[in-house]
Parts: sequence; structure tokens; C-alpha cells
Amino acid sequence: MRINPPLKRFAQLVAAGSLVLLTVPAAAQAQTAPCPGPGTDTAVETPVVINPATACPDTAQALKIVYAPRVDGTLTLDDKDPHGGEPSEHDDIRFTPSANTQSFVIFNKKTYILKNVHYHGPAEHKIAGQPDFSPLEAHLVHELDGPELGYVVLSVLVNPAKATSEHDRLLHEPPTTPGAGKNVKGVSLKALLPPQGSRTYYRYTGSLTTPDANHVYYKPVNWFVFKRHGTATPGNIAAVHALWPEGNKRELQDNPVPPNVYRH
Ligand SMILES: [Zn+2]
Repeated sequence: MRINPPLKRFAQLVAAGSLVLLTVPAAAQAQTAPCPGPGTDTAVETPVVINPATACPDTAQALKIVYAPRVDGTLTLDDKDPHGGEPSEHDDIRFTPSANTQSFVIFNKKTYILKNVHYHGPAEHKIAGQPDFSPLEAHLVHELDGPELGYVVLSVLVNPAKATSEHDRLLHEPPTTPGAGKNVKGVSLKALLPPQGSRTYYRYTGSLTTPDANHVYYKPVNWFVFKRHGTATPGNIAAVHALWPEGNKRELQDNPVPPNVYRH
């Protein structure tokens, strides 16, 4: 382990008896810990490992989620480059709400409109200390309302469970041909999120995880990864994995400086 010079000097003073160590209560210690740590608020490449132990209290206002109670839309096997054929790595199972569903989020006083909900399998984000990636990750993608480009993406890691959930409504018998779709009615967007009162999240600034037409992974993207996981039945998870035997996820990115992660 590298010891930085001020710490080393401190240790020398303590050893020489020039400084007397006092017992500091745990709460006070927490306040004096450097926060944010060595990370950056400049957008990094997504996905990343989120380490709850180094996440800082969020200084930004809480994300406000305003979703219509039930929305209709289409469920497609979204077809990106390379088009057609077998499902390819950037394709996904995607629910697109009908226009004007009045479903949006507010972050930093800006409004972002819900554009789609899609799934990656296995998950893209990883939580440090958890043994493996969740089998699926849902992304609720919101775009800035107005001419400028801007994103808020809500991420729900999805684990298997016997009981069906709202995710199962979108994952049951998904379209299997790129470009194919079907209508879905009365989706509860809020039921795709953890229950109200359990929506604490990790926030950081990253990128999209699929490239645009110019092969660019757009950034900045405001990422919100919920601490509490969602669920889907093992059968429906397997149905998604069967479409992408190699997975439809971007691998963890090796950023030179990790992002500052805030917990809220
Ligand atoms: Zn995604």
C-alpha cells in the first residue's frame, strides 16, 4: 500500500510522541473521511462496478419520478446495427410507451421524458461484494425535454424469483426476430421500480452502453442504479438468455479514474 506524504508525516509525529491520538466516535470519523474520494464527476464509460463502501452522501436533490399509473405501448426485439439475422449484441427486448404518456423524471430542475424500457442479460453494472452479475438489468431511458441531448437512465438489477412481477409482463414470450413486435397494454411503470419507500439509489455520471450510428457511446448520462433489486421468473430470464447466448451487454469499462458514486 502506498502511504501519501501527509499521512506519513502524521505517522512520524505520532511515533515521536509529538501528537497524541484521541478516540473519535465513529460518526465523527465518518464525517471527516474524504468525500468524494479519488473519483471524478466527469462522465466515465459505463458500465462500472459500484462500491457501496466508497459511495458518498448525495448532495444533489432527490430524483423525482412522475409516471402515469398505466401505459400502453409496443414490445419489440429492437434491431440495431448489424441489422436482421439472429439477435445481435446491441439488440434488446424493448418496451416503448405510446407518445404522450405523461411519464417523466425531474433531475437538477430539468425534465427528462421516458422513451423506453429495455433489458440486458446478464446485467451490465456490478455491485462490489456481490458474488456475480444479476442475470438481467432493466434500463428505463429518459431523454431531456427540449432540443438539447441529455439522458437520465434508471437501472434495476433483476434477480430470479418464483412470483411473477411487472418485469415478467414484458419478458414473457418476447418477440424472437429482430424488428418484430407486439402491443402491450396497461403496463405499470412504477411496478418496474422498487416499491415506493425503497427507492434508494446510487448515482454517477457515465455513458450509454450501446453505440449510436457513428459508433459513439454517448455521454454524459445521469445514471441511477437502485439498491433494491427487481425480480422475474427463472423461465422468463432463460427466455431472454436464449436469444443472446453470448449476452447483450457491454463489458465492465476500465476507466482511468473511477466515477464518484453518490448514494441517495
Ligand atoms: Zn441499456
